[in-house]
This record gives sequence, structure tokens and C-alpha cells, in this order.
Amino acid sequence: MSEAPTQVAPGVHRLGNALVNCYLIEDGNRMTLVDGGLPGFRPQLVEYLRSRGSSLADIDAVILTHAHSDHTGMAEQVRTDAPATVHVHELDERMARTGKVHKRAGSMLPYFRHPAVYKLFVVAGRLGAARTPNIAELETFTEGDLDVPGRPRIIPTPGHSPGHVAFHLPDRGVLIAGDALCTYNPLTGKRGPQLMPRAFGFDIGQAQASLAALERIDAGTVLFGHGEPWTDGPAVAVQRAREFGVT
Ligand SMILES: [Zn+2]
Repeated sequence: MSEAPTQVAPGVHRLGNALVNCYLIEDGNRMTLVDGGLPGFRPQLVEYLRSRGSSLADIDAVILTHAHSDHTGMAEQVRTDAPATVHVHELDERMARTGKVHKRAGSMLPYFRHPAVYKLFVVAGRLGAARTPNIAELETFTEGDLDVPGRPRIIPTPGHSPGHVAFHLPDRGVLIAGDALCTYNPLTGKRGPQLMPRAFGFDIGQAQASLAALERIDAGTVLFGHGEPWTDGPAVAVQRAREFGVT
């Protein structure tokens, strides 16, 4: 992907770079930011909003698929500057407030033979991943529809983190899977639908079980925290991920 944001579905925009994505949902002239990406994405976000005749002030809410630092990056600044409310599943709230990450399902060591790891650390480092601000104020959710622009439906998909969720936008035909699935593995560099690697996850068995919640969703476009959009539907993506196995 080039570093230019693009509209990937009606009123749904992809921001970020080749390694990390976040998304903007437009609803009339109000907006929701889905995940905060990396802190260094902020100039891109501000410029993209300006190019479309809007501004940070049009963002009402930031909703998090989970509270890992490559998904919270801009959230605190958008919260205070827009200003906006930040929403996260109750099981990821503490991580969002403190930056303290749960235990990991695997060690980083096996991945260092892949060049992708070094690329990730360089790019994430340059974009401020290690300096992600904690989020001082949050609203928590567990299930149902979120009363924010785009009215996303919460799909609990724990495993990558304890409180990981996907967001379904039925009227746009979009499923934002977060890191419940990816089409680019940031540690191995492998492409295609798959689970995120163990070393970034909380409980792989739980993540595998959560795929069942995604495969029955009706969505023409599936979007991920890492990798290109998928347009063959969640069921096929989940089937491929199961065939791919765990990395
Ligand atoms: Zn991620």
C-alpha cells in the first residue's frame, strides 16, 4: 500500500502504511476513528481530513479493537484535541490506561530469522510506537451496538488480547476484524488470511475459537489491523486462516 489513505468501502477510509492500518468511518459529517494506529500517523490523519474538507473536530469517537500500542497510537491526542470519547472493551481497559501488556502466547525469538521483524521495528520506532501515550479517559463496552458515528456492532473476538473485538458495519457491508485475523503477518512477512503470531497474542486457542464469530458475518469487505483488505468474505478468510495454521 502507498502511504496515501484510500476509501475502501462507502464512507470507510483506510489510513496508515504498509505495516499498520487504522480506519475512519464517516456518518454524515461526523466521524469515528477505528483504532489509533501509531502516534506518527497523526500528520497523515490531519492532512487527509483537511483534503476532504473536514478536520479533527469532526471526529466524535475513537473505538479500539484492542489496546496494543500499534492500535492506540493517536487515540489520546485525538481524545483531547477533537475532543472525542475513546471506547474499549472492559477487559482491555487497564492496558489502554497503563500500557501494561498481558502475558504473551509465545516468545519473539523464533521470528528473528524473518527480515519482516526488523522492518516492523524500524518503521514502528520511527512512528513513535515506543512513546504511545496512555489513554487517560475511556468508556468501556462488552457487546451490542456502539452509539458512535457509523453505529458499529461489537463482535467479541478475544484471544489476540483479552478484550479484543471486531466491528461490523452492516449497512456498509464491512467487517473490521482488527487483529482477530490479518492478511499480513508483521513478524514473518507472510501474506494471506491468517491469525496474528503467538508472540503478539494473549491466548492462541481463544483466538482460534473466536474465528467462529467472524465466519458467519455477512460482509463484502473485511479490513484488518495489518494487511490489505479482503473482498471474498469472512467465511473464506477464516477457512484460509484455519488452513494456514499458527505462526
Ligand atoms: Zn496490531
